[in-house]
Amino acid sequence: MEENRQPHMLLDPDQMYSELEKKIAATGHDFDLKRIRAAYEMARAAHEGQKRKDGSPYVTHCVAAADISVDMGLDEDSIVAALLHDVIEDTTLTHADIARDFGDAVADIVEGVTKLTRVQYTSKEDEQMENLRKMLMAMAKDIRVILIKIADRLHNMRTMDYQTPEKQRSKSLETMEIYAPIAHRLGIQKVKWELEDLSLQYLDPAGYKEIADSLRDRMPQLERFMKNMEEKIQTQLKSEGIEATVYYRIKHIYSIYRKMYAQKLNISGIFDLCAFRVIVDTIPDCYNVLGLIHYMFKPVPGRFKDYISTPKPNMYQSVHTTVIGSEGIPFEVQIRTWDMHHTAEYGIAAHWKYKMGDGASTVRGGDEEKFAWVRMLLESQQESDAQDFFHDLKIDMFADEVFVFSPKGDVINLPAGATPIDFAYSIHSDVGNHMVGAKVNGRIVTYDYALQNGDIVEIRTSKSAPGPSRDWLNMVKSGSARTKIKQWYKKERREENVIRGREMLEDELRHMGLTLDDVLDEEIIAPILKRLCFATLDDLYAAIGYNGIAVARAANRMRDEVKARSERNEKKTVLDKVSAAADRREQNAKKEVKPVQGVLVEGLDNCLIKFSRCCTPVPGDDIIGFITRGQGVSIHRKDCPNYQQRSHEPQNEGRWIRVAWAKEITESYVTSVSIASKDRSGLVMDIATVLNALNAKVRTLTSRDIGGGLALTNISLEVKNAGELRYVMNRLSAIPGVSSVTRSGEKK
Ligand code: MN
Repeated sequence: MEENRQPHMLLDPDQMYSELEKKIAATGHDFDLKRIRAAYEMARAAHEGQKRKDGSPYVTHCVAAADISVDMGLDEDSIVAALLHDVIEDTTLTHADIARDFGDAVADIVEGVTKLTRVQYTSKEDEQMENLRKMLMAMAKDIRVILIKIADRLHNMRTMDYQTPEKQRSKSLETMEIYAPIAHRLGIQKVKWELEDLSLQYLDPAGYKEIADSLRDRMPQLERFMKNMEEKIQTQLKSEGIEATVYYRIKHIYSIYRKMYAQKLNISGIFDLCAFRVIVDTIPDCYNVLGLIHYMFKPVPGRFKDYISTPKPNMYQSVHTTVIGSEGIPFEVQIRTWDMHHTAEYGIAAHWKYKMGDGASTVRGGDEEKFAWVRMLLESQQESDAQDFFHDLKIDMFADEVFVFSPKGDVINLPAGATPIDFAYSIHSDVGNHMVGAKVNGRIVTYDYALQNGDIVEIRTSKSAPGPSRDWLNMVKSGSARTKIKQWYKKERREENVIRGREMLEDELRHMGLTLDDVLDEEIIAPILKRLCFATLDDLYAAIGYNGIAVARAANRMRDEVKARSERNEKKTVLDKVSAAADRREQNAKKEVKPVQGVLVEGLDNCLIKFSRCCTPVPGDDIIGFITRGQGVSIHRKDCPNYQQRSHEPQNEGRWIRVAWAKEITESYVTSVSIASKDRSGLVMDIATVLNALNAKVRTLTSRDIGGGLALTNISLEVKNAGELRYVMNRLSAIPGVSSVTRSGEKK
């Protein structure tokens, strides 16, 4: 019997595959189509007879996952692996079968995807979710495993209609809590949005429908509005000679949903449903466009964000602003370069796509800063050509951590190399102290077994357990387990520890040629106990006994104290008093000059410092001091015209002295800059917007018309150093209409 569903055309895998082949050819990469086809043939044969819930042959899912991988810009091995991603889990084929025909890299990826598929998911609180995400990333080892898993999940979500309601809910929840955040972290925004919207559709069908319906009703109006705004922006950009592509869209449903929820609004209360994107060729053009947009429309205060100067951790870069368009409708504008655009759409995948042509060296060279975290991934990699680049790109972000499951499904995060003992103590000290054995994935393991990502760890305990043994201290990797074991010894075995500690100390002292009697003098032992924070001598013995303090450390202290006392006794003579005075004099002479307001003046301590108003120096500038009459030392820049003129005047001889910036400077310095520009409306607003976005502390800002359609704006502001100042000045020069930005004292 056919199920009574919407009429559905069964998918034809061969036809889908030939579409995929065309798409691959269109990418322009010289991927081996024969090899990819062979993978398709292998998958089709292996899944023969299996069906998707909609009745289509199962292999259509594999082709679809490969298709998404191509969209994501992945490499040939990824496409091959995507086609084969379910064969280990669902067919009789093995790692060896895949490795024989397609190589180890592909087989490893497929096995990685299979492992991720087997991880049990149950919804937990946020911190557990974060650990679970990290565990999946760590288990994947090769980042392509994660990307293919995401492609797989995306296709499953797209075809979720055919699943039972329970499955729809649980898969959607998992997608929302695990895969959408991972896609976000990898910077694959397009995929993240689709995953979120698809999940929401099943998690809150009514909420989804409310937004979707409302958007549909308002669509004609919004479309008209966006078209109109787009034309306006395009016209303005053209007249300024800026080459740009403008896109517009309605924001994705889940982002609107989240905003409604967070701000407790209904959809009519959400205004900025429209988003514009302006893509240009260069970074200065981004800021030029920003200036123009703010010139054309009224910006909404507090909505300007500069992710170009401060990229998000997932490499995302753009400037964002929200402005009010005609009809009073606000809309968001994101401005970015093409390069940033590709990264935003496909994240790390796009990065490969665009860098693969010229090899990995590009990543190590020019884009160092931008791809800092990719570089982190690459650290272990000495050299590679474009082919090996993918293969060697391992997820070693979590190399020093291992993630394991408790029998209840909690994810426990431990240092790499951790053992079941670490695990037991991370659950509770009692579990550790009563541990009598451990099982990993159902099998008994030794206490020093190194836990692996994804292991399910079970600790056997007994009331009559003897407690931790001393060699556990050598097996544990986590500081907290070590502390807890020591605590146990401290508490449970005090008598024993006192005796043991005393013996250990005696032994150690004997090696130094001392006895306990030598050190048990009150004058010696009291300051030592105080310094080591012990109330009584027995406490010290006990601590030595349970290894709370190294016996050598205690013994060394005692030896030093004994020595110091005998020296003290020798020294008390009249001569000491004489030499003490000499010491004091020497001390004074050696005293270093202290900086005043961040400036060191040669040979002068604590003198009055003034920063000259003609050139307002800041740390990083080359500076020189001038001894004024009665007003201390005035600090000039070496390129200050006043210094240049007056340094050779005979009446000033000897009054110019060397000064330098102190090594560590905490204060800010007031300096001033002048901006020459066209005299246009909105200019001061633009300057203020840029300064505000940079968090610059502005003291004064004055702007005046200087004739000929030109304006001169003077700003005095606080900066930390010359680098920061240069940065601010660069930003100011990018404002449309600005012809120059100079520091005071500089030639225009
Ligand atoms: Mn699958």
